[in-house]
Amino acid sequence: MTARDAGAPLGPVGYCIYCGARDCALTDEHTIPDGLGGKTKLLKSSCEKCQKIINDEIENYCQKTLFKNPRLHFGIRSEKSKRKKVPPDPATVRIIDGAGDERIIYPNLDKYPLMLTLPMFPPPIAMRRDFQSNREESGAKWVYGSNRIQRYVTENQLTAVKSPLVDPLRVLRLVAKIAHSHAIGLYPGMFTPLLRAIILGNTAKCFRYVGGDMREWPPESCGQRLSYFQARRAADGQMFLGAEVRFFCNMGAPIYYALVGRISRQSPPDLDLPVREGVLRLPGTIPEFL
Ligand SMILES: [Zn+2]
Repeated sequence: MTARDAGAPLGPVGYCIYCGARDCALTDEHTIPDGLGGKTKLLKSSCEKCQKIINDEIENYCQKTLFKNPRLHFGIRSEKSKRKKVPPDPATVRIIDGAGDERIIYPNLDKYPLMLTLPMFPPPIAMRRDFQSNREESGAKWVYGSNRIQRYVTENQLTAVKSPLVDPLRVLRLVAKIAHSHAIGLYPGMFTPLLRAIILGNTAKCFRYVGGDMREWPPESCGQRLSYFQARRAADGQMFLGAEVRFFCNMGAPIYYALVGRISRQSPPDLDLPVREGVLRLPGTIPEFL
């Protein structure tokens, strides 16, 4: 665990942590998005172009579609919307009614169940023994609240409630974005970054450095969680800086892993982090709560 206060700003960086641009206006960047309750800012760290890609392609989708229902249920709002006193968007749900017609309803949140669907991923390919193979990955879906949704459908004489579109690649890019940006702030210059192409959507090899854990883990008493560790690849001893990211831990959501960067084996930096063989979770590691 680091000694810094949770929420204290990191940086300033002085270049865009995504594309490397230096001679341009740089904005401050929330490491965990503001709209998911993230407090930590990485100062002067993102150019306008990259910020727009991240907002348009990753964060807007995750906050307004994928995580919309739990955000409303737990009252998580961005600082910006609180400051501007913008009323929260109403809960909207696309349903198929009893007559078979699809439409949008505005349910009362007290009566509408808490629900969330997320992808589950196997561990990143780069950590496997056969890390040089290009075998396609397959994941699974994790669903919270399906029994309660079924009850809601029956009680309201509906045919179905449509769940938000789950786009695994955008979830994966969000995990990469959080892990990369916070690591640049905490461990500047101590690793060779691996996630920038994934974050910007410039590579098809997303599962190489980002993945997860296909097992179910019990809920924890926090919202979003981010912690770092060092991972040693069993096949050749290559060391990585790894991150463990979990959204809505209180709902028991899946755990994701990102290999943020390579660490030099010849002159390893003093990261003061637990070393894991592989990326599977080990008991006794201390998570860093943000
Ligand atoms: Zn940039």
